[in-house]
Amino acid sequence: MDTNRPPSVHALATSLADTGLPHPLLVDAARQAIAAGDPESARSIAEGIEVSLLRRVINATGTLLHTNLGRAPLAVEEPAGYRNIELDLATGERGSRQSQAPTLLARACGAEAALAVNNCASAVMLVLAALAPGRDVAVSRGELVEIGGGFRIPEVLEQSGARLLEVGTTNRTRTDDYRRRMADPATDVAMILQVHQSNYKISGFTEMPTTAQLAELDVPLVADIGSGLLDAACPWLPDGPPRWLADEPAARQTLEDGASLVVFSGDKLLGGPQAGIIAGGAELVARCGRHPLARALRPGGLVLGALQRTALAYLARDGQAIPFWRMATTPVDELRARAEALGVGRVIETASVPGGGTLPTVEIPSVGVAVAGDRRAELRGAPVPIVARVEEDATICDLRTVDPTDDILLGQALEALDA
Ligand SMILES: *Cc1c(COP(=O)(O)O)cnc(C)c1O
Repeated sequence: MDTNRPPSVHALATSLADTGLPHPLLVDAARQAIAAGDPESARSIAEGIEVSLLRRVINATGTLLHTNLGRAPLAVEEPAGYRNIELDLATGERGSRQSQAPTLLARACGAEAALAVNNCASAVMLVLAALAPGRDVAVSRGELVEIGGGFRIPEVLEQSGARLLEVGTTNRTRTDDYRRRMADPATDVAMILQVHQSNYKISGFTEMPTTAQLAELDVPLVADIGSGLLDAACPWLPDGPPRWLADEPAARQTLEDGASLVVFSGDKLLGGPQAGIIAGGAELVARCGRHPLARALRPGGLVLGALQRTALAYLARDGQAIPFWRMATTPVDELRARAEALGVGRVIETASVPGGGTLPTVEIPSVGVAVAGDRRAELRGAPVPIVARVEEDATICDLRTVDPTDDILLGQALEALDA
């Protein structure tokens, strides 16, 4: 190239066609490189654009619900085609997109009805907007929390058009505190909102009413349980609930304890796609579904398809068909055998975590391979990027969050480090 004259943007972009990126993105890379006075850098800029695209990665961090990796592992392989998303195939009449996956989930957690929206934050927002507009919603001061990504209960309440009625104190709230506030003629309590302390713990001199106690009060109780554990008995696992699940609230038991509605995420312990579920009494669920916000927050066919697949696995009691549960319950011996079979790095005992802002202090015994130094950047550059973690100057790849079919790719990437 003539170094005195900058190459034309078009020529430079065309010379990068082998990257496979669409031409307009190559033009952007070429322009940026020429503007920086370094046309040669166009290729690395184009590669940077490619790396920034959404793609499959291998999660070797040991964090099962990794917020930066989309929480629960997602299985979507849908061929192009129409779906009966709002058509009743039996009658030929218009149907409801809420009649499939949400109805199956309701069946799986013992609810009369359920509704799916975009995520749990929007589920809470919709419930408040539909059931308590301009009225008071009683929340314990111990539950006025921020749950990751700027989801703050007081702010969500304000946005919904409901009024926050603070009850009790940060560390201690009793059922009588709610009673007293509700008896005050100046208040107009439409519902009690119970919010699970997903990502933090208050310990020491503490007291909080149970769901069953709050359900005895005279207004509907809505429980935001967050993680979406469907049933505390975990009937989809042959050995029942794993020990690390501890006292995580579950949808079925929260409803049995008398909550009018539960809301939870689709992509935490439920192990499905990003979604928010509102489950409980048919009349309250229907009122949420009729609110104009429900239309704005409704999920599309891809999400409903993935959610339906998850719901069917629960109903079939097939935890192995739900990637999150399959990974979370893989026996340590199996992980060790896989780590040894990689034949690279040092096999170590380690600990995975549930992640995703759930079960903040829980660790799950696991096995990984360790290599010296911080090799994360190189692993991220592998053909299928691998995300690992660093501990005490070693890079650790935890096998619990790696699908066994990816072991070969992981082994190849680790071997390439030695070269
Ligand atoms: C995670 C969580 C949310 C937010 O869920 P998203 O699906 O991320 O919107 C809300 N409430 C509780 C209690 C949670 O744990």
